[in-house]
Amino acid sequence: MQGVLLGVMYWNVKVGGSPMICLVLTGGTIEASVSQYERNKEYVDIVELRVDLLHESSRSRVATFPSLVDVPVILTIRRQSDGGMYIGSERSRLALLESCLDGKFDYVDIEDDVKRSMAEQKAREAGVRIIRSKHDFSGMPNDIYHRIAKISAKGDIPKLAVTPQSILDLITLFRVRTELKDVEDKIVLGMGDFGLPSRILYKRMGSLWTYCAETPVAPGQISVQQMKELYQADKVDDRTHIYGVIGNPVNHSFSPRIQNPGFRGINFNAIYLPFLVDSVRSFFILAEMLKISGFSVTVPHKQQVLPYLGKITREVKQIGSCNTVVRAKNLWSGTNTDYYGFVEPLIPDIDSKEIQSALVIGAGGAARSVVWALRNHGCKVTIINRNLERAKNLAQETMTAYDTLEHAKLYEHVDLVVQTTSVGMVPAIEEDPIPDYTFNKNQIVYELVYRPKYTKLLQRALEAGCRLHFGIDMLIRQGKHQFESFTGYHYPKRLELSLDLEED
Ligand code: NAP
Repeated sequence: MQGVLLGVMYWNVKVGGSPMICLVLTGGTIEASVSQYERNKEYVDIVELRVDLLHESSRSRVATFPSLVDVPVILTIRRQSDGGMYIGSERSRLALLESCLDGKFDYVDIEDDVKRSMAEQKAREAGVRIIRSKHDFSGMPNDIYHRIAKISAKGDIPKLAVTPQSILDLITLFRVRTELKDVEDKIVLGMGDFGLPSRILYKRMGSLWTYCAETPVAPGQISVQQMKELYQADKVDDRTHIYGVIGNPVNHSFSPRIQNPGFRGINFNAIYLPFLVDSVRSFFILAEMLKISGFSVTVPHKQQVLPYLGKITREVKQIGSCNTVVRAKNLWSGTNTDYYGFVEPLIPDIDSKEIQSALVIGAGGAARSVVWALRNHGCKVTIINRNLERAKNLAQETMTAYDTLEHAKLYEHVDLVVQTTSVGMVPAIEEDPIPDYTFNKNQIVYELVYRPKYTKLLQRALEAGCRLHFGIDMLIRQGKHQFESFTGYHYPKRLELSLDLEED
């Protein structure tokens, strides 16, 4: 496995001299815009001055702006129908655009449907490149390739900001690169949650640059720090290995913050990003198209990926769910790292017979990994769940006992209590699935909820003197196992202390 990785351990340093990360300036004044640039200049290659976001009193000084920063500047006055804030007639907007062009701007953004304006003429005379933009906040026009080609044929830069509604739409967007490979200068991006991968993988889209902001002004926009530091999107090249996490929802996932620093720690040319997925079947098509090397799977797709896997581990078969998929030669191979992330810290206590019996609260997806792991290690398990039928089914499958949540008190003698329901997680942090249960100091209590770190149940267990295991540690452990599946390497040890995910 290590040999496989050695062949790809390099970063291609910044390609060419073209702009890559564009900061949209959202300050209300020229001074605020300059300060925004100064605060972020280490991350930024180009800025867009959004005159529509400036107070009226600052608009007369727009022409001075390009001389106040040392990167190329795009001049934009966005009207409301395109997500902007300009209030006033179209005539006055275009007149303002024309007067702003007295400044030495490098680019001007003129919407595709604005025909033969004086601003356009002035821009051409001054050698300012024109970006012809089209925004769609509700979907994707069905002629995107044609639109791009047509604008480009006139010598302008086409900019298409559309809103994919599904993974299939995202596939259409990523195909721009191959369909229009002769159109070098273009800006294409998907807005909203489905579009996020196109913003991050803008170089794979063949897009000149991607837009970021300190305060997002368009759906799905992320901060310039995230783009540059978390994803290092500007370093993606044709050899970068793409990994990700699929789920619905998914953008809250911690996993990019575990995997991306890990890749960097071993000098692995790879990126890990969230994919909002409505259809697993479509995602596998995208995965082939982008040559995705592997991905994590979260709710609700952990079962739905199974039919697409050519190889699965014993645990995946038992649990019936998979949270890690890697490309292995010509097939997809699935593992379940929740299983190992959960059981690892318990093994010494199981081996020493300190843990022989366990009460598992919950019978959902996470409980399946927990119960199978405990059973495979020889523990006697009782499952209690709100929905008794669900507890019964899991108990029959795993040859364990089951009962109702209300009977929790009958199991106060067990060595280990594992809480696998979503009860107690933010925002309902005062909730406790077994409020009448009395813990004793000889027990070990394991909480799967990771936000907050100390749930109500864990606080009670702590007061009783129990030994605790935290959901956040399990999350990190399972992430490190995924990292090993993806790369063949252990997670870099020196990064371990910086993974304090509770801080957000
Ligand atoms: P799931 O499949 O939807 O199962 C949810 C479980 O919670 C079911 O047993 C459900 O009972 C129970 N439940 C939900 N609301 C309840 C309520 N109001 N009262 C009593 N029981 C209730 O979800 P999952 O994937 O198993 O995830 C469960 C939790 O584990 C989540 O908080 C998740 O974040 C956490 N988790 C943590 C890690 C980690 O690495 N730390 C890994 C996986 C999961 P019914 O069957 O009666 O509906």
